Amino acid sequence: GLPEQLSLREATELAARLRAVLQQHAYRYYVLDRPLIPDAEYDVLWAALERLEARFPELVTPDSPTQRVGGPPLERFEKVRHPEPLLSLNNAFREEDVRAWYERCCRMLEERLGRRVQPALTAELKIDGLAIALTYTQGVLTIGATRGDGVEGENVTPNVRTIPAIPLRIPIDPAVEPVPTRLEVRGEVYMRRSDFEQLNERLLERGERPFANPRNAAAGSVRQLNPQVTASRPLNFFAYGIGPVAGAAVPESQYDVLQWLRRLGFPVNPHAQRLSHVDEAIAYCRQWTEARDTLDYEIDGVVLKIDHRPYQALLGNISNAPRWAIAYKFPAREATTRLRNIIVNV
Ligand code: NAD
Repeated sequence: GLPEQLSLREATELAARLRAVLQQHAYRYYVLDRPLIPDAEYDVLWAALERLEARFPELVTPDSPTQRVGGPPLERFEKVRHPEPLLSLNNAFREEDVRAWYERCCRMLEERLGRRVQPALTAELKIDGLAIALTYTQGVLTIGATRGDGVEGENVTPNVRTIPAIPLRIPIDPAVEPVPTRLEVRGEVYMRRSDFEQLNERLLERGERPFANPRNAAAGSVRQLNPQVTASRPLNFFAYGIGPVAGAAVPESQYDVLQWLRRLGFPVNPHAQRLSHVDEAIAYCRQWTEARDTLDYEIDGVVLKIDHRPYQALLGNISNAPRWAIAYKFPAREATTRLRNIIVNV
């Protein structure tokens, strides 16, 4: 944990050390797809830096890992500038963090609206994969990009085109449902656990290096120079949101956006729910903390979003994450739990 008494000088040194370590691990994770430490351990270091910066705001620098998203795009891919940045999510490790977040949203909405509201929530599983933005022009997939640093991603269009779950053309009859002239679908490319195990066996048989976990396998498979390699990897996709849209009316709520994306032909995770009270959101988090291992894909938490999109717009973003969403992170399974609790509780 952080010591009770810290001089500004000690805090400055500690922040610099934490940043250097976090930067090294972020590079291994985002750029090389080969992490050295478990995510929960990374989260502990991150939380420590965040707390330190909260206690000493003068220490916050624009290049601090807490102020940024992801990692820089790899040079070997063409860069794509996202028309709207792909942000990260703020984390909640405890139920009270979720309540505090919801209360903050309510207070801010009350300020902006001049009346008290109880905004509904969408609860979704947090798929542990790789964020991808898919641009459809006149219904045809034209760009697939990684998140990268949130502002610029990697152009991985030929690779994304090999993923069977991703439609190359929005497969809907325009007489039934208007097809947007332009649509950015955001979602997660992931690998099923069973497919991941088979892939690692295959790699080992061929004397190649296996992947550390399904997330790294998914990320490493998408970020291949040769799309044929990507094509040979068992990748999957869940859509969870949208970027800019033109030529179609966008539903007013996140939950309805998910149903709309499903109607347009995108795979949407079946476990999303619209909830009217934060207590139900907490129950959802508890339920999935217990049930996560029953799924054939990895989730590392639950994402809670204020459902009504006009409210989302009123809440806006802070530096690298939206105010209207939060990621409830599951407790780590191993010894890191204790370490994390110590630091999170300081
Ligand atoms: P994040 O991955 O925790 O959260 C943001 C991402 O969640 C989005 O980009 C999106 O791709 C994803 N997501 C999944 N399901 C979603 C849904 N239903 N709705 C919205 N978004 C959804 O945040 P981050 O900033 O990208 O990365 C932090 C994560 O990376 C942490 O888990 C951290 O432990 C891990 N990490 C680990 C190491 C390491 O060395 N082990 C290093 C760096 C980062």
